[in-house]
Amino acid sequence: MNIVRTVSDTRDVVADARRTGRKVGLVPTMGAFHEGHLSLMRRARAARDLVVASLFINPAQFQDPADLEAYPRDEGRDAALAAEVGVDLLFAPAPDEIYPEGFATRVSVGPLGETLEGAHRGSDHFDAVSTVVVKLLNIVGPDTVYFGQKDAQQTAVVKRLVRDLDIPVWVDICPTVRAEDGLALSSRNVRLSATERVRATALFRALRAAEQVIASGESDPAAAIVAGRRELHSSGIEPDYFELVDPQSFVPVRALSGDVLAVVAASLEGARLIDNLPIHVPSTEAKGNHNTNVAAYERALEVTWRPAA
Ligand code: AMP
Repeated sequence: MNIVRTVSDTRDVVADARRTGRKVGLVPTMGAFHEGHLSLMRRARAARDLVVASLFINPAQFQDPADLEAYPRDEGRDAALAAEVGVDLLFAPAPDEIYPEGFATRVSVGPLGETLEGAHRGSDHFDAVSTVVVKLLNIVGPDTVYFGQKDAQQTAVVKRLVRDLDIPVWVDICPTVRAEDGLALSSRNVRLSATERVRATALFRALRAAEQVIASGESDPAAAIVAGRRELHSSGIEPDYFELVDPQSFVPVRALSGDVLAVVAASLEGARLIDNLPIHVPSTEAKGNHNTNVAAYERALEVTWRPAA
């Protein structure tokens, strides 16, 4: 596996591959690899000829300097793991390679970037994510870019900008990888103490509690939200938000029908965690057949997405 630091070296490697008709997959990351990241890389490896992973801790998307400072970094370990799963090229630029002197442009996706995580972290957050994603797509020019469902709002933001800016790339959303007890894997989990790590499992239980209420035929979203919040409170967690939203717009749903996304964020001691669960609301006829519906929706989410031509 090659490690490159510059935009021009990255372009050279990709151009060489393209000359022989090879298809390119890109996995954008901020490092501190775990099975979640590796699942994206494996998926890219299986589908594409040249697999590029980027490793860039984007300072612009951190609102809290202490959070940026504390973000885990171990490039040597990351490079070894990426090589093991078959990544061909690790693009690991320094900040001034991405933001050279005079850099001024910002990409913004509007209201989608201002709600939930945007509201909590400041709307600058998704502007910064959007800007760096557009840059990475322009630097690498992949056929497919891979993102994790774990960061659901980020995936909606990426789909929005790809559609709005006519970027010719497939966006492949990969399922959330979880620990056995349900906690979604995250680079931030290493900052949790043993006690907080146990408490953190309440997030997934809360999402499942909302799902169960919906599966039982409940028609009022508030009832499902109450069930989720109750689960969090029983572990002493006051979430930043626990909502049922439309999976595309991230606007809270007023009624339960079709596909909804349960989303949660909470600050535990040491780390702020986010998680989500896609839930298919059973139609009147299908009530009682909940598992089939959920499985169908989760399969649908895995399907590669590209804006209609
Ligand atoms: P990050 O390094 O946190 O920016 O994550 C890089 C990519 O890995 C993003 O597309 C994330 O959504 C994805 N990712 C992070 N955690 C997981 C997980 N537990 N399961 C699946 N994908 C994940």
